[in-house]
Amino acid sequence: MPDVLVVGGGVAGLFCAYYLRRAGATVTVVERGPIGGPQSCSHGNTGFVGTQGAAPLAEPGVPALGLRWLLDPRSPFFIRPRPDPALIAWLWRFRRRCTERAAGEAFRVLLDMKQRSLAILRELCGDDTLTARGMVIAFRTPQGFDRARRTVSRANASGVPLRVLEPGELSTLEPGVEFDISGALYNEEGAYLRVPEFVTELAATLAGMGVELLEDTDVLDLEVAGRRVRQVRTSRGDLRPGTVVIAAGAWSAALARKAGLKLMLQPAKGYSVTLKSPGGAPRRPVLLSEGKVAITPLGDRLRLGGTLELSGMDTTISRRRVDGILRTVRDHLPALDTTATPQTWSGLRPCTPDSLPYIGRAEPYENLALACGHGHIGLGLAPVGGKLLAQLLAGETPDLDPAPFRYGRRFQ
Ligand SMILES: Cc1cc2nc3c(=O)[nH]c(=O)nc-3n(C[C@H](O)[C@H](O)[C@H](O)COP(=O)(O)OP(=O)(O)OC[C@H]3O[C@@H](n4cnc5c(N)ncnc54)[C@H](O)[C@@H]3O)c2cc1C
Repeated sequence: MPDVLVVGGGVAGLFCAYYLRRAGATVTVVERGPIGGPQSCSHGNTGFVGTQGAAPLAEPGVPALGLRWLLDPRSPFFIRPRPDPALIAWLWRFRRRCTERAAGEAFRVLLDMKQRSLAILRELCGDDTLTARGMVIAFRTPQGFDRARRTVSRANASGVPLRVLEPGELSTLEPGVEFDISGALYNEEGAYLRVPEFVTELAATLAGMGVELLEDTDVLDLEVAGRRVRQVRTSRGDLRPGTVVIAAGAWSAALARKAGLKLMLQPAKGYSVTLKSPGGAPRRPVLLSEGKVAITPLGDRLRLGGTLELSGMDTTISRRRVDGILRTVRDHLPALDTTATPQTWSGLRPCTPDSLPYIGRAEPYENLALACGHGHIGLGLAPVGGKLLAQLLAGETPDLDPAPFRYGRRFQ
C-alpha cells in the first residue's frame, strides 16, 4: 500500500485512517483544528448509533412537510433562500429521491451499514464510550403514534428490533421521568457514543498504532498533474503523499473542486444544547420523533440535538431554532429542567441527496479517494465506511458492494 494522507479528523477520516493502518499503510491525518474540536461535526452531535434511524432524509411526504415547516421559524427545518446553483441542483435531486422505491433502496443500504458499524463499535469501544441500553422513540400526537406503530412489522422484517411499549412499560424503563406523549416505541438495539470523548479516544488509539496526526493544519490546495494529485499544499508546508483521501465533512465539496471534481454535497446545519445535571432527565436516549429532536444522556450531562438548516457554510447559532428545540423537549418532558447551564453548539452535516456517502476512488484520478457525505447519521456509517475505503484502496474484495457510494452516480 502506498502512504496515504487523510484530509479531515472527524469520524469519517479517523475510521479511514484506522482501517488503512490496519491494512499496512503509512497514514497521516491532517486536521485544520484540534481533533474532536467544535469545528468538526463529529464534536457536539447526539451520538446515536445502532439500528434505529437508518431512514434517508429523502422520503415520500418530506417535500410537503418541509414546505409547511419553512413557514415556522421554530420548526426543525429551514432553507435560506438564495440563488445558489449548487443548492438548486441538490434540491432537485433530493426531490427526485422522495419516492417509496428510492427511500426503500437507501434504507436497506444504510441499515446494513449501521448494523455492520454497530458490530465494529461493540468490538472497539468500552462500556464508558458506547452505551447500548436501547432507545425510546416517543410520539406526542395519537396520529403520529398510530402511523409509527403501523411501521413496526415492516421494521422487524428488515431486522430492526422495534416494538410498541405497552402502557406502564415506559415508567418502568424510565422511573421518575414525566412524559407527556401519546405513545412510544422501543428499539433494544438503540445505542449511543459519548462524543466528543469517543473521537479523541479514537485519535489516541490511532496515534498508538503509528498514525501521524497533524492538527491545526489546513489543506489549502491540491496540485494535480494528469490523473494524479502531485502535491498537497497545507498551512504548514507541502506534502507529497502516494494517495489522498478527502474526508473533510461538509468542506469536502470545496476541496474536491480544487481537483476539478463536483460533489453533490450540501452542509445541513444542526444544533445541540448540552445541559448540566438537569432534573427529570431520562437514562436512555430518546428520540422525539415528530419534533425531530434527539436526547442523549452523557453521564452528568444531557444533550438535546436537532434542526436541519440548508444555509450554506454558516455555523452561526439561531436563537429561534434553539428555542424551538427546547420547546419541543419541554412539550414532551414537562418536568425536565432545560435551564441547567445550557451549552449551545452548531455543526454542519455533510449531506448528499440520497443520504449515502461517497466512498471510493475519485475517477479519473489514480491516487485520490473520497470518504465524505455521511450526512445525518455519520457515526453510524463511518466505521464500516472506513473499512470499505481501506479494502478498495488495498485492492481487496470489499465486504460491501461499493456501487451505491461511487463518485459520479446520478442520484436518480
Ligand atoms: C445536531 C447534530 C446531531 C447529530 N446527531 C447524530 C447522531 O446522533 N448520530 C449520527 O450518526 N450522526 C449524527 N450527526 C451527524 C454526524 O455528526 C456527522 O455525520 C459526522 O460527524 C460527519 O463526520 P465527518 O468526519 O464526515 O465530518 P466532520 O466531523 O465535520 O469532520 C471533517 C473534518 O475535516 C476538517 N477539515 C475540513 N476541511 C479541511 C481542510 N481543508 N484541511 C484540514 N482539515 C479540514 C474539519 O475541520 C473537520 O474536523 C449529527 C449532526 C448534528 C449537526
